[in-house]
This record gives sequence, structure tokens and C-alpha cells, in this order.
Amino acid sequence: MVPTRRSVFKAGAAMIAAGPQKKLHAAVVGAGAFGGWTALHLLRGGAQVTLLDAWGPGNSRASSGGETRIIRATYGPDRIYVQMVVRSLALWREHEKRWNRPLYRQIGCIRMPGKDDRYEKAALPLMRDAGLAIEELTPREAGKRWPQIDFDGVAWVLHEKDAGFLTARRNCEAVLSGFVREGGEYRQRGVTPGSIAGGRMEGLSLSDNSRLDADVYVFACGPWLGKLFPGAIGERIQPTRQEIFFFGTPAGDPRFLEEMPAWIDGGDSGFYGIPGNEWRGFKIADDGRGPAFDPTSGDRTPTPEGARAARRYMEHRFPGMKGAPLVEARVCQYENSPDHHFILDRHPEAENVWLAGGGSGHGYKMGPAVGEHVAELVLGKRQVDPFFALKRL
Ligand SMILES: Cc1cc2nc3c(=O)[nH]c(=O)nc-3n(C[C@H](O)[C@H](O)[C@H](O)COP(=O)(O)OP(=O)(O)OC[C@H]3O[C@@H](n4cnc5c(N)ncnc54)[C@H](O)[C@@H]3O)c2cc1C
Repeated sequence: MVPTRRSVFKAGAAMIAAGPQKKLHAAVVGAGAFGGWTALHLLRGGAQVTLLDAWGPGNSRASSGGETRIIRATYGPDRIYVQMVVRSLALWREHEKRWNRPLYRQIGCIRMPGKDDRYEKAALPLMRDAGLAIEELTPREAGKRWPQIDFDGVAWVLHEKDAGFLTARRNCEAVLSGFVREGGEYRQRGVTPGSIAGGRMEGLSLSDNSRLDADVYVFACGPWLGKLFPGAIGERIQPTRQEIFFFGTPAGDPRFLEEMPAWIDGGDSGFYGIPGNEWRGFKIADDGRGPAFDPTSGDRTPTPEGARAARRYMEHRFPGMKGAPLVEARVCQYENSPDHHFILDRHPEAENVWLAGGGSGHGYKMGPAVGEHVAELVLGKRQVDPFFALKRL
């Protein structure tokens, strides 16, 4: 059954009609950046919420499971993402205060376009309209400010002052703690979706052989979504293998710690990184999509070729890091949609099921705004945005 504009509002009306004595029961599967925030917003929207995850929030298999993630608002011509970043920034900041723990480090982020700077140029007016603090620097000006960076081949530098990084897995745990403190229920269980009949999904099967019946189900299962829903999602989400390297900074040298911003090389290289966080080292990763990857059982041993490529890039762009030892490495996966935009939509055959995913290597920062968006969809307070609709794919 294809949900109509009317049925969207009917869902919301049904919840309101249920009144305080019978709350809508929502089961959210996946406690990563998307699912954790969705569960929290649903709870605050008046629902009874059960959040489930097979391995835990920000676990080592999850896409949200890394040390850090950049938050920045350069999104080419896509205003919708700029608005989501602004909303997310506000929510990350608000929750730092509310939970009295650090979630976000405002160290700024620089983007270094090469010859083709259309993406960055298109982003400038949108970020200004949104009231974000940005500046355009020549390579010479940038070189004076950050002498530890060699701006060779860089056309100009876009500095986002509001940007920075988020402590990824830790923040997932913070969201879960907040959710539980506010009355949400968390269960660590593997979930198999129920069968779909008559336009609705039946109860979920859990890994302890129990069954969970709820009024509505949200699946925010990151790179697992395609396998869980081979018909509705299938190949529309492709997990790819991504390697991240952490190089040791010189002893006592603050230049490659938080004395410099996070950075994204917009030229041909595709590398990006975050200066040392919590003494883990200088992070470098290649944004180029790696080979297909199985998030459950894929081999997470980093390759020597990946480490060599990261080192080659690092020693060129950050000469002071020449010869730095590799101190840590991780393998994670992106969960790519074909156009790299999110999927936030209702299941095409089940009116009580919502799908949230397709972070495509840039979803983490948006967790707070995505969660709010999905909760509003579920509660009938907004309609599916065509930009995030399954139909577009
Ligand atoms: C190396 C790397 C760098 C990145 N850098 C950035 C960045 O700088 N900035 C940024 O904004 N984004 C970045 N991203 C992207 C971002 O991390 C992801 O888009 C985002 O974390 C996806 O969150 P999610 O909640 O959709 O998925 P996940 O975090 O994968 O969460 C899905 C959860 O579902 C659970 N689950 C799956 N199947 C089941 C099941 N059957 N039963 C129960 N539970 C289940 C899993 O255990 C998991 O916890 C990066 C990603 C990677 C891999």
C-alpha cells in the first residue's frame, strides 16, 4: 500500500486521538547516529520507545563507530543539508550543556579546492544566508595562519569557523544514556523484521527468540539496511570499505593537535582529516569509495597500500609529519546511496515502517536533525521530503 498525504496525517491524528492513556509504541532498530537521535526525539514527542541494537551504540562494526567525525556545512548547492547542519549544530551544543559532557569541538574546518571549485563557490551564499561564520583565504593568507600546512596546488581556502569535530562512538553512547534517563527502553538484541501483510509489518523477531510488537517500526540500520530489506532498499545502499589512519605527532608538539582545524582536500586527492583528538594521533582518511564490504563479517585489517598512500599525502601536505609513525588504524564502511543523499522515507509496502539511512560518508554530523526529521515523519508532523524519498532512486 502506498501511503498518501492523507494517511500521513491520519497516522499523526491517530496518535493524538490515542491520548495520554495509550501512547504510540515505536520500536527503533539501530542505535547509531540516525537511530539513537530518532529514538530520543520520538520519546520527547510523546511516544513510548524501545530502541534495539545488535551490538550497541557506536559499536566497532557500525558506521558511527569511529573516534571522530567532522561537522561542516559546505554542501555545494544543497541548501537542505546546510539547514540540517545548522539545526544539528544547535542540538549538539544544547545537549553538551544538558548532559554536561563534551560532544563537539569547535576547531573550525578548512576546505582546500583545486582548479574546480564550483562545489565550494555554490556553498558560499547558502552558508552566509544561514548565518554561519566563514571566510575565504588565499593560500598565502592560510599559509601564514597555519604554517604547518603546505597549500601547494590549492586555489583558495574556505574556512568554516563554526565547524569542528564530534566524538563519534562516545556521542552515540551519550545519546543512549540521555534516552534511557528520559524513560526510553534499550535492548541489545539482533532484530529480524516481521513479515509484511495487508500493508503492515507484523512484530519483530529478536535474537533471544522473543517477539516485539509495536505500533510503528523505524529501521535505522546503516550499512545493513539493504540486506534487511532486499526489496525496498537492496542495492540502493552499498557498503564500501574505508580505511582510517592515525599518525603519531612529534613529542610535545601542539601544531598537529587542536592548534589547527579539521581539513578536507577538495582537489584531486580526496583526503581529509582531523588533528589529534584525545591523543589518538593525526587522523587521515581517503574519501574515495573503497570496494564492497560486509559490515558484519568483513575483514577489518587495514592494508599496507592504504597506509602508504595516506603517508605519501600527509608528508606532502603536512611536511612536519614526515616520518611520523602509524599509531592506529581502523576499517569502517560508508553506507552509500546512489546519489549519496539520505533515505528518510516510509517503507513502500508497509505503512507502519520507516527507513532511515544512506548516510553515504557524511551522515554522522546530521544525526540530531535527521532524528528530529524522522520522528516528525513518524508522528505525522511532516511529509516525506522528495529529496530524501525512495522514489527518487
Ligand atoms: C571512515 C568514516 C568516516 C566518516 N566521516 C564522517 C564525517 O567526518 N562526518 C560525517 O558527518 N559523517 C561521516 N561518516 C559517515 C557517518 O559516520 C555515517 O553516515 C553515520 O554514522 C551512519 O549512521 P547510521 O546510524 O545510519 O548507521 P550505523 O552507525 O551503522 O548504525 C546502525 C546500527 O544498526 C545496528 N543494526 C544493524 N542491523 C541490525 C539488526 N538486524 N538488529 C539490530 N541492530 C542492527 C548496528 O549494530 C548499528 O549500531 C563517516 C563514516 C566512516 C565509515
